Amino acid sequence: MPSGKTHDAITVMLAVPTFAAAWGVAGSLGLATIVTCAMLFGGLMFGPDLDIQSRQYTRWGVFRFLWWPYKVLFRHRSRWSHGIIFGTLIRVVYFALVIALVVAAAVYLRALVVSGAPPSFAEIVSAWGAIETGLTQTVGKHAALAAFAGLWWGAASHTLTDVAWSVLRKSSEIF
Ligand SMILES: [Zn+2]
Repeated sequence: MPSGKTHDAITVMLAVPTFAAAWGVAGSLGLATIVTCAMLFGGLMFGPDLDIQSRQYTRWGVFRFLWWPYKVLFRHRSRWSHGIIFGTLIRVVYFALVIALVVAAAVYLRALVVSGAPPSFAEIVSAWGAIETGLTQTVGKHAALAAFAGLWWGAASHTLTDVAWSVLRKSSEIF
């Protein structure tokens, strides 16, 4: 497989063409910037190789524990992490669930410390609701779609590189 270094280089090289294409399609510099940043994030930190101990995984630093269950759960290069269709979708859903759990744990601990009693489920739900409202108000639908498109493209280019690499390796064995 291409090394993490190769994947990083390809991701960075794709930034300019991605920006140009996104600008052309969306007709907005702001959205093109979001797509490009999400693509870089998707390639460097939010990509398919979170299913193993990789550069993407270690870049999460102290927060890498958030991806530990993902790494254990998904077999390396399975379609659930590397698939063009499922890869990004599953990572986004997984990450949203992990964040929801972290928020619940934070609300729980805070209530224990402040009032000495665990919070009710309704209090946890209202914390989730506040975050969701805050996000939808600040981010907006178009920006969220642009971010998803960028994340998807960052991961898809990784998978396409993996596939191209395997094909080249196989054909070089024939000759
Ligand atoms: Zn990979």
